Amino acid sequence: MKKKEIRKVLVVNSGSSSLKYQLFDMRREERLAKGLVERIGCGGPANHAEALEKVVADLGDAAKDIDAVGHRVLHGAEEFADSVVVTKSVMAKLDRLVKFGPLHMPANLGGIKACERIFKGVPNVAVFDTAFHQTMPDCAAMYAIDPKYYKKYGIRKYGFHGTSHKFITMEAAKFLKKPLSKVNLVTCHLGNGSSLAAVKNGECVDTTMGLTPLAGLVMGTRCGDIDAAAVLSIMETEKKTPAEMDTLLNKKSGLLALAGSSDCRDICSKAEKGDKAAELALEMLAYRTALYIGAYNTVVGGADAIVMTGGIGENSTEVRERIVSRLGALGIKLDKAANKKRGITAVISSKGSKIPVVVLPTNEELMIARDAARLLG
Ligand code: ADP
Repeated sequence: MKKKEIRKVLVVNSGSSSLKYQLFDMRREERLAKGLVERIGCGGPANHAEALEKVVADLGDAAKDIDAVGHRVLHGAEEFADSVVVTKSVMAKLDRLVKFGPLHMPANLGGIKACERIFKGVPNVAVFDTAFHQTMPDCAAMYAIDPKYYKKYGIRKYGFHGTSHKFITMEAAKFLKKPLSKVNLVTCHLGNGSSLAAVKNGECVDTTMGLTPLAGLVMGTRCGDIDAAAVLSIMETEKKTPAEMDTLLNKKSGLLALAGSSDCRDICSKAEKGDKAAELALEMLAYRTALYIGAYNTVVGGADAIVMTGGIGENSTEVRERIVSRLGALGIKLDKAANKKRGITAVISSKGSKIPVVVLPTNEELMIARDAARLLG
């Protein structure tokens, strides 16, 4: 493909019933527009093509001269260790990966197909949530079950939030003034869904999510790590189907099940008022996060920084304090005044700490736009 200057990039995050978009001018990485089309297939636009027509109408003149469209795609499996310019053969491969995300992948691919039709001749780039984690060694990625399940069905750890972990890895390297290829980090994306990544020499070597985003930390509505036998026990005792179990563990667990809301702000204010269930939920969340920070510090051979991002990581002084107060054994102490800062880049550990804890706002959309510009420009 001929390379050209990529100035205007549209970023599309096409979900099962909504389509989010942002338009960037990549010369100064400036956001020109952002928006959301909701209720696709349930009262609003009938499908992703109609949703995209609405986006074009909303953008007006700004929709002209788009040089590239970057798409968030849930799963690249082992096929894609980096973002990719979408061609016919890439599309055929993507169609074969739908089994890894039966809910999200059809919507993601629907968004790409709609853009191919509506922005004729404009290249599309697929950016995968899993790609950054493809550098994990087998000892981290494989499950200790009969390898035939990996060979037959691809059952292994893939990890998610990769675009965010990659973005904050790059930003943290800049912030620490270290070359990307030499930076060791524990990156914590703490939001409604949460995951940690162990980053050694700029590459992911482990992450807390697994085959699906269910594994690892305590999340808004997901349970995170659980003994698989506990799942079987509930299934058997309550005669639940796999689909019912899926809903129970993904949508009705985590903070929601423990303390009645999936929103961390609600849980924090309940805990402040003395609600014991909310207090325990926050302690469980902080405990498990700190547990993995300690483990991943070992995995990377000593981190240059612990980086926090996502809605909770960027904003929740309360949760950050609960996590960092558990990291004393790593020689880390919280700077309580610095921890009051929200939504901005800040070091929240005290000056004497052995490893700095850095809060860095993530920007997955910009990372997607950067990847599109990198691959095409
Ligand atoms: P998603 O994973 O859906 O992108 P976000 O990264 O936006 O989610 O994170 C959502 C979480 O961030 C919610 O639990 C919310 O309570 C929490 N959050 C956002 N702002 C604040 C805040 N100011 N204080 C505490 N928690 C916050």
